[in-house]
Amino acid sequence: MNNRKVAIIGCGFVGSASAFALMQSGLFSEMVLIDADFAKAEGEAMDISHGAPFARPVKIYAGNYQDISDASIAIVTAGAGQKPGETRLDLVHKNVGIFRSIIPQIKDSGFHGILLIVANPVDILTLTALRLSGLPEHHVIGSGTVLDTARLKYELGEHLSVDSRSVHAFIIGEHGDSEIAAYSSANVSGIPLSDFCELRGHHDHLAGERAIADRVKNSAYEIIQRKHATYYGVAMAVKRICEAIVRDEKSILPVSSMMRGEYGIHDVALSMPTIVGADGLGEKVPISLSEDEINALQTSAKTLKEVIDTLEF
Ligand code: NAD
Repeated sequence: MNNRKVAIIGCGFVGSASAFALMQSGLFSEMVLIDADFAKAEGEAMDISHGAPFARPVKIYAGNYQDISDASIAIVTAGAGQKPGETRLDLVHKNVGIFRSIIPQIKDSGFHGILLIVANPVDILTLTALRLSGLPEHHVIGSGTVLDTARLKYELGEHLSVDSRSVHAFIIGEHGDSEIAAYSSANVSGIPLSDFCELRGHHDHLAGERAIADRVKNSAYEIIQRKHATYYGVAMAVKRICEAIVRDEKSILPVSSMMRGEYGIHDVALSMPTIVGADGLGEKVPISLSEDEINALQTSAKTLKEVIDTLEF
């Protein structure tokens, strides 16, 4: 396996923005782009390659499934995106169908690296990819709520006029409408969130927290209404996850993976803070959750389960 080789399957808005972010990161020396529309993959490979002299040497080319057998990470962004007004769960049947064609080809290539699922609904497609790929569970990762968590940190940073990197807070559960802002463990450099809000002159905590969680949850709808797709934020989330893997950082990221009895939740993939390193998924980190947050997490799992039960694998 070539630890410096990445494959991106699906070169639409999200795949090409991710390729662009990864080219700039210098994490990889080889990047293969695959798309049902080969010319599109070729065009993106040419365009992104022309930026490499401003970053670091990297071979970027359009390829096919044989080219991914020795890649260390395969990122799947192929699939339909949300149209204005559509939820992520509305995409499920179309995109599970696309995964039925893609994942067996990844498997047949002999790929044995880490599969990073980004297409939506990401939690359900992570479970789909796990079942169809035959890869070990710790090697199938959904980008989950890594993007939503960045949106939460951004919003809190703006609200509190503080660097968003000093904000520690997670969105957990579904990457979608039932996601949960885990405020009870949120803090700004160790100071509980509500104490920091007081310091900044914000006293109506409940209203502030609700408004921010709603903005985070609705941001994809708001962006899609204006520009028909979202891709830069998720591209940075993809880069962050790849960085944690390639550099074996053991970073704690809210990626999507199978729940195996945590909080009484089984057989569904959703996001919880999890250690991510060179061997993929490590342990889930049991951040403290309030009773309301646990109930909401169980409801989120139930929402996903109801959709999973309509699928045939
Ligand atoms: P897009 O329509 O621009 O791109 C999809 C690409 O997939 C197209 O280039 C298409 O040719 C390709 N494709 C379709 N079927 C294929 C197949 N069988 N094999 C290979 N390639 C195939 O869509 P987009 O805006 O790039 O979004 C892609 C996915 O990412 C959507 O499902 C979207 O909802 C999701 N997304 C996820 C997040 C996240 O945080 N996880 C954020 C934004 C978007």
